[in-house]
Formats: sequence, C-alpha cells, structure tokens
Amino acid sequence: MHQLTLAEIARGLADKKFSSEELTKVLLARIAQLDPQLNSFISLTEDLALSQAKAADARRANGESGALLGAPIAHKDLFCTQGIRTSCGSKMLDNFKAPYDATVVAKLAAAGAVTLGKTNMDEFAMGSANESSYYGAVKNPWNLEHVPGGSSGGSAAAVAARLLPAATGTDTGGSIRQPAALTNLTGLKPTYGRVSRWGMIAYASSLDQGGPMARTAEDCAILLQGMAGFDANDSTSIDEPVPDYSASLNGSLQGLRIGVPKEYFSAGLDPRIAELIHNSVKELEKLGAVIKEISLPNMQHAIPAYYVIAPAEASSNLSRFDGVRFGYRCENPVNLIDLYKRSRGEGFGPEVQRRIMVGAYALSAGYYDAYYLKAQKIRRLIKNDFMAAFNEVDIILGPTTPNPAWKLGAKNSDPVAAYLEDVYTITANLAGLPGLSMPAGFVDGLPVGVQLLAPYFQEGRLLNVAHQYQLNTDWHTRTPTGF
Ligand code: GLN
Repeated sequence: MHQLTLAEIARGLADKKFSSEELTKVLLARIAQLDPQLNSFISLTEDLALSQAKAADARRANGESGALLGAPIAHKDLFCTQGIRTSCGSKMLDNFKAPYDATVVAKLAAAGAVTLGKTNMDEFAMGSANESSYYGAVKNPWNLEHVPGGSSGGSAAAVAARLLPAATGTDTGGSIRQPAALTNLTGLKPTYGRVSRWGMIAYASSLDQGGPMARTAEDCAILLQGMAGFDANDSTSIDEPVPDYSASLNGSLQGLRIGVPKEYFSAGLDPRIAELIHNSVKELEKLGAVIKEISLPNMQHAIPAYYVIAPAEASSNLSRFDGVRFGYRCENPVNLIDLYKRSRGEGFGPEVQRRIMVGAYALSAGYYDAYYLKAQKIRRLIKNDFMAAFNEVDIILGPTTPNPAWKLGAKNSDPVAAYLEDVYTITANLAGLPGLSMPAGFVDGLPVGVQLLAPYFQEGRLLNVAHQYQLNTDWHTRTPTGF
C-alpha cells in the first residue's frame, strides 16, 4: 500500500478498496519502522492523523469525493500547525506550538488531507543539505551516507522512501526542487504569490514560496490544487483564478518550444549530469517539442545577488526571535542586552547566525548601496533575461543541480561550496517564476533532476510537460533499495 501515489490512493478510496484509516495506520507503522534510519520527521501527529482519516472516511461514506479526501501527507516544519510544535528546525522554536494553522495547512485539511507529521528541515530553511537542523541531519534513502538536499530534506527523504505519498515544502532558492532532484522526486515551486505564505515562518519574504513534493507530476498537480489560491491574509498573494491542474496534464507537446540556456553547461556541471539532461531533451523532442539554444547572460551574478538579498531579508525577519516576543529564552539573564544576546546566541545555530550577520551588514547605512541596492538591480536584470527568453520559448530546461547528492559533512567546513550548488535554482526565485524538478536518471546510484521553468502562472504547463515525460520514462518509478 505504501507504494501508492496520491492519484492511486484517490482511486482506491473511491472504489472502497481500503479506507483512509487503514492506509494511515499502514504508513504510521512504516514511519515508526523505517524513519529511525532517515530522521525525516521532527514530530509525528498520530492522533490527529487517525482522527482526520476517520473524518475523511465518514465524509466519503456521506457521498463526498475529492482527490485529497483521506490522502496522507506531511508538512515541512515551518508551516504553522495549531497546537502542534512548529520548530522551523531550530532550537529557537523547539517548544513553539503555533496558535493557528497556516493557510496551506488549513486548506489541505479542509480538502480532507491527513497530516501524519511535521518534517525535518534546515534551520529556518537555510541550507541545501538538511544538515543545519537542530534535530540532526536527514539521510538520503538512496544512500544513507549522502545528504537528501535541503532545506525541505525531511519531506524529500520521507516521500522518496515511500513513508508517505506526498508532502509540502518551501522554496526560497531551490529548497523544493533541489531535494526533489537529489531524492528522485517531482517538486514544484509555484509562481511567487500563487500559494499563500500566511503562517509559513518567513526566511526571505520576497523569495519564499510553498509548493508540492511528490513522486509524480500527476500528484504534484493534486497537491498544488489544494494549496494554491488567493489569500487576503497574505499581502503578496495574487488574486488570479486557479486552473484545474490535473486537467492540464494531457496536453500534447507537439510544437512546444523548449529553450536550453547555453550558460547552464559550464565547467561547474558534472558531465554525467549534462549527458542525462541531453537525454531528457531528446525524449521531449520525440514527443514533438522543438529545442532552441537560448542565453541567460546575467546568470553568473545570481548567487552573489541571492546571498545578499536572502540574508538581508532574513536578518530582518529573524529579529523577532529575541527571547521576549518569540522563541527560546536563555537562563538567568543579568540584564536586557544579556537576555537578547544569549537567547539569540544559544537559540540560533551557526548557519543562521552567519546569515543574520551577512544580512545586517549588507543593510547597514554605509553598505546598503554597495550591496543590497546592487543586488536588487541584478535581480531585475535576471528577470529581464527571463522575459526576453520567454518571448522565444515556452519552457526553459536544464539541470536542477550541478552535482548529485554529496556525502554527509562534505561541505560543512565551506559554506560557499554549498551555496554554489544553488546556481540553477535561485534565478527562478529572484524572478518569481515557477519551476519544477523531475527525475532524469542516476549517477553512481544517486538521482539526478531536470529542471523546467515557465512564465508566470504557467504551473499547468510545467506539470503537463513533466507528466508527458513521465508517461514515456520510468526514472520516477525507481525505488531506493531497502525502502
Ligand atoms: N540553499 C538556499 C539557501 O540556503 C535555498 C534554501 C531555500 O530555498 N529555503 O538559502
């Protein structure tokens, strides 16, 4: 039963092959048995899950239907869940029980989804390896000595290991797409403003976006349907109608113009990944797509711009965690300054402290123009590059990451080495564009992802291309040994 996708679960529940309660019990038992190897969950919510499953079964018995009614999922632990620990992977929020549900959590619960728990993540979503979590590293089910990617590494590892069919993630600079790539999943970062950020603990507000992680594009369509939509509580939420994503899956790719940026195939890319990306291009050509070489000339500036803007916003967002308004409070402070200093010094881990320092520096009076303002100008150039490219093509295709999953600890002493892994993903966040990663093969037994980018609000186009690709390839069906 644990191999079923969301789409198969929906059919099984509708055909009364099993109940949501039965399925939920099977998956909870599987998590108890296998998760100690992976550490993909921070909290399990067994009681909530069983009561939601029973309620979903009762709704079905009363004639209700819906693809998410009775479907087991989990939330990345930065989505606020009422009365349940919402830690953000940090000691700072280790004992924080959110007083309300994030919009995404509330919407999915209303659609009948069953929450099995809260997944592990990099502290405050800062990282690409899930090693900065206060709750310990997450292991990649494809090789337990390797990282699963981050920051949504817990969601990725759990779904890849068939502990559950799908989970939510968030993506500020790649945190849905990169862990999806490194664990053989399909993950979608929607257009900025498509999914409400209300109740999603902020890292960098102008870049953060929640989205689905699952094994197939078909399942991402189902989960995104439950997450997307206007929310008056989020001032950056966009009031655009939400299309039927599942209905968009079956469009023909005949004549689809795919742009492949020449800058993507530079020295930093593992040549074995380059080959797999070229194979996926050939596969899409067979389905009728037309390939065109394009250029994104400002891509080389993306990492420096992102690693100014994201820390700048983080330094501001994280100022609320001071031991008074929110978060961990140190023992026996001698005065107010001591309370602030030690609460933040003890509550935040080293990567979060590094980002706060960098961000505060970039925003300080003497350096604002030189760093923050410059980075914002680069951001606009990157957006302009994409706008020009999308005048010529419908989709942009390339690798999701320059390398497969690295060994646990391999980049711990060199933060910049980890930042460089984000080279293909962060441009979509800087421009606010939707992006998807899907399985494209393996290197040394480790999964590789291909990334697709589309114009604003064209999530349906991304899901369509990915679904057609998945009908003709079987990379996404591969299961890690032992799971
Ligand atoms: N790796 C990037 C960072 O550390 C992206 C993280 C994310 O998308 N949350 O900022």
